[in-house]
Amino acid sequence: MSYPRILVISSCTGEKSAKPANQLTLEDFRDPRHLARREAELSAFSRPAAELYTGAQHLRAVEGIRLLRQVCPADFWILSAGYGLIPEDRPIVPYEVTFNTLKGAELLDWARHLNIRSGFARLVKGYDLIFVLLGENYLRALELPVPTRPDQTFVFLTSTSTAKLIKVGQAKVHTLPLSNPEARRYRYGLVGLKGFLLKKFAEQVLRDPTLLEAVWRQPEVFTRALEGAQPTVAQEALLEIPQVLPKPKKISTQKDEASPVEEEEDREDETYLPIPDLPRAPNFHLGMQYYIPEWDDRVDPGYDFLSDTATHNRKPYLHDVYAHEIYDTPNYDGVLLSKVKVDASKAKRALVEAVGVHRFIRFPTNRPVMGDCGAFGYIKEEEPPYTTAEILEYYHRLGFDYGVSIDHLIVGPWAQPGVREKRYDITWRNLEAFITAHRRGGYAFIPIGAVQGWDPESYAAMAKVAIEIGYSYIALGGLARSTSREILEVLKAVYPHLKAHTRLHLFGVARINAIPAFRHLGVTSFDSASPLRRAWLDSKANYHTLSGKTYAAIRVPPSGEGGIRVRRIVEAGIADLSTLQRLEAAALQALRDFDRGHLSVEDTLAAVLDYDRFLGLPREGGVDTEDQARRLRRHAVLYRELLEERPWKHCDCPICQDLGIETVIFRGNNRNRRRGFHNTYVFYRRFRELLAEGEKDGKIELMEATHA
Ligand SMILES: [Zn+2]
Repeated sequence: MSYPRILVISSCTGEKSAKPANQLTLEDFRDPRHLARREAELSAFSRPAAELYTGAQHLRAVEGIRLLRQVCPADFWILSAGYGLIPEDRPIVPYEVTFNTLKGAELLDWARHLNIRSGFARLVKGYDLIFVLLGENYLRALELPVPTRPDQTFVFLTSTSTAKLIKVGQAKVHTLPLSNPEARRYRYGLVGLKGFLLKKFAEQVLRDPTLLEAVWRQPEVFTRALEGAQPTVAQEALLEIPQVLPKPKKISTQKDEASPVEEEEDREDETYLPIPDLPRAPNFHLGMQYYIPEWDDRVDPGYDFLSDTATHNRKPYLHDVYAHEIYDTPNYDGVLLSKVKVDASKAKRALVEAVGVHRFIRFPTNRPVMGDCGAFGYIKEEEPPYTTAEILEYYHRLGFDYGVSIDHLIVGPWAQPGVREKRYDITWRNLEAFITAHRRGGYAFIPIGAVQGWDPESYAAMAKVAIEIGYSYIALGGLARSTSREILEVLKAVYPHLKAHTRLHLFGVARINAIPAFRHLGVTSFDSASPLRRAWLDSKANYHTLSGKTYAAIRVPPSGEGGIRVRRIVEAGIADLSTLQRLEAAALQALRDFDRGHLSVEDTLAAVLDYDRFLGLPREGGVDTEDQARRLRRHAVLYRELLEERPWKHCDCPICQDLGIETVIFRGNNRNRRRGFHNTYVFYRRFRELLAEGEKDGKIELMEATHA
C-alpha cells in the first residue's frame, strides 16, 4: 500500500512546560545575536519544540501524530510566533509571544521578519497531504496563497471566520471551520479542538489506513471520517463512487503533461527500465505470473444501465460477479487472498470457512490462490497476532494452493534502526518455523517464505537462508513504495542465491516497463490491483488501452439517491434539482446517441459540459468561477479526445463489447469497476505480450502460468 507524504502544521501555544520569569519576549527575537545570548541564559529550559508546548491543541495534535506514525511517516512542524516555522525536534526555550495579540500591519511585519510565508511555501513542497491546524491570526501570518501543485491536498482546521484567508493555488483543499457548535458536536473544548480532531481522525486511520489515500484524493472525506467514525468510510469513498466523486485535479489542459497521480502510482511507467548486464537468472524458464489481490471487486451482473437500477433482492456476496466470471479466461494467473481481508467481515469469513477459497472466489481450480496474512493489517503491533501452527492449519483448511509464512513489515517508521532488527528477526524466525512445521504436518499446499529487509544486503541474507533451508518459493515484501530502481538493487543482491527451481514473488508491485528487467533478475510472480483501481482513483488515466495510451472517463454523477455531489450543489443553491436532473438525462442520452452514430462529437460534448459546468463542488457555499472555468476547459479537452478516438470501439473485451460507451462513463460502481476490469484485461494482455517477446529473444518455451 502506498501513502501520501504527510505534514502536520500546528500553532504554538501559550502554555509551555516551563515559564521562567526571564522568558523570551518579542524584542528578544529581533536580533539573532542577542537571541543567541538570551537563549544561552535560558538553556536549562531548552527542549525540542514538540515537548515545550503544553496547550491542549498541541498535546492532542502530538497524540494524533503518534497514532498516524503507527501507519506511515508523518512530519510535524510548529508555527511559532517567536521562532517562525520550526520542526518538532528543534530545541527552543520558553517565550511569551503570540500572533493572537498582533494586529494588521504589525502582524504582517512580524510574520515577514520571521519569513513565514516563504518558509511555508518551501516546506509544503515536499508533501502530498498537509494538515494545517491554525487559528485566524496564525493563518494570516502565512499570507496565502503560496504556489502548490494539483497533486497536493490541504486540510485546514481553523476558526469559522477565516474562510477568506484560505487560498492554496493549485492544490485541493478542504476546510473544517470550527466554532462553538462544532465544539459541542465533537464534545471537546474549542481551545484544543483542532488537535483533538486530528487525533480523532488518526484513530480512524489506524482502523482503516486507506483513509489517508482517500483524504488525499478527496479531502472532503476528512470530515466524513470524523462524523462517520466508521472503519468503512474510506472504502465507501473510494469504491462507492456515486456517493462522493473525486474532485477533479486542477491541472493545465496541456495533454502531454504527466498527471502527478500517475507518477505516484506507476512511478516509472514511462521510463523503460533497462535489462541489467547480467546473465539471465537461472529460474527464467519458470515464466512469470500476475496475481490480483482479492478486495471484493465484484459487480452486479444484472445491473440495468439505462435505468441505473440494481438487480432486485440481490445479495452481493452470492449474486455479484468477479472479473473472471465475465471474461472467458481470467485476466490474471492467480489471486492473492490476505487473511485480513477474509477476517474483514464476519459474513465473509463464515462463507470462506464454509466453502474454501476457490469456491468462495469462484476461481478455476487449475489457477492458484495464494494466501498471506496481510502484514499491513498488523503493522503497528509489536508482533504478528498469529502463530505459525494456526496459519498452516488455516491455509490447509481453506484450500489455498500457496501459503506465505508470517512476516512483519519493515517500512516507514518501522525501518528505523533498533525497530527494524526486531521485525527482521521475527520474519526470519517465522520463515524457519513455517517450513519445518509444514514438512512435519505433511501439508499439500506449497509454502512460500516471506522475506523482509531494509536494504539489498538484508533482503539478500534472508533470501539466501530461505532457499538453503528448502523453500522453492520466496516472496519479497515491503517494496510497494520503492522505486523500480530501488527494487532492482534488491533483486540484484538476491539474484546470486536463486536456483533453477526457485520461484520469486514481489508483493504489491506491477510496473509494466520494469517487467522485463525484473524477470531477467529472477522475479517469477507479482501482484497488484493498480490497473483496476485507476479506473476510478486516477484523476484522468481511467480507461487504458493496449498501446499504453490512457483516457479520462466522462463524469456524469447521479442526481438521484446517493448522489452526494449533486445534493451539495443543490443545497448550496447553485442549481435546482430539476435542472440538474434534466441536464444529467440529456448528457446520458447524448452519449448513447453518439455511440450509435446519431450525434456529432460537438453536440455530445456540449450536452456533457452543460451538466458538467454545475458539478464543481461549492466552496464556502459559493462557486469559485475561476476554478469552474479551469475544470470545464480541462474536461473539454479530455472528453473531446475520448469521443474523437472512441477507444471502447476498438476493444474486443466483453465489457466494452456489451456496454459500449457506458464503460467510459464515470458513474457508480457498476460502470467504474467494470472499467477497472477492462483495464486489468489490457494490463494482462500487455504483460503476456512482453513475456512472449522475452521468450522470442531467448528461444525458450514459455511455461504456462498454471500451477502444478
Ligand atoms: Zn474493453
